[in-house]
Amino acid sequence: MLSDAHCHYDEAGALAAIHRANHVLALVNCGGPAEWARNAAAIGPDQRLSFGVHPWQSATLDPATLTKYYQVAPVIGEIGLDTVWTKVPLAQQLPVFEAQLAIAARLHKPVVLHTKGCEQEILPLLKRYPNQYFVHWYSALAYQADYLALGCYMSIGPDVVSDPAVRALARTVPANRLLLESDGVASLSWAWGHEVAPQDYAAGLHRCAALVAALRGTSRGWLQALAAHNLATFLQ
Ligand SMILES: [Zn+2]
Repeated sequence: MLSDAHCHYDEAGALAAIHRANHVLALVNCGGPAEWARNAAAIGPDQRLSFGVHPWQSATLDPATLTKYYQVAPVIGEIGLDTVWTKVPLAQQLPVFEAQLAIAARLHKPVVLHTKGCEQEILPLLKRYPNQYFVHWYSALAYQADYLALGCYMSIGPDVVSDPAVRALARTVPANRLLLESDGVASLSWAWGHEVAPQDYAAGLHRCAALVAALRGTSRGWLQALAAHNLATFLQ
């Protein structure tokens, strides 16, 4: 079975149709009420939704007004901190992130984390809110072992083709913590530096899985089965 531990649907729903047709076990991100409504209508029985205020939206969305979404979502996220890809000040991101960590812990729901540039800052917060965490597309060389020591799942993103930090993680993440993700069709294009069409998505998943399998000295099929099993376990 193919799996995609973290992805986004575009408005046209091309990836949703591919997921339904191919029974891809996927965790589909929703960053706000409108995206939640759209994705909830698009998923089939093999796809699940996560809901959370992304750090880039920390100045726009207030978790206190979104209670009903946290209550129905099986997974909270992606939430986190980012000092690389956004101009939203960290001081504005922090209370939004911590409020959602508290909500997830209180509701006993697992969490998808976005950690860009704030890998060190996030670790003590996770210790304050013990929970099942999944660090999506981790791309730093530092602190990999610290996240693993907290029992986090960690996904390998599509720039495993080129990023040494992602390749290092792909080699060393324990078998029972490894996930595979695309982050959506647009991210495949971003990671590979050329336009990727939705119809090339499945081939893209196979390409990444083959690379990770080669780095770990195993087969693509075995690795894909492992990643799907781990995602199912995370979603339980
Ligand atoms: Zn994402």
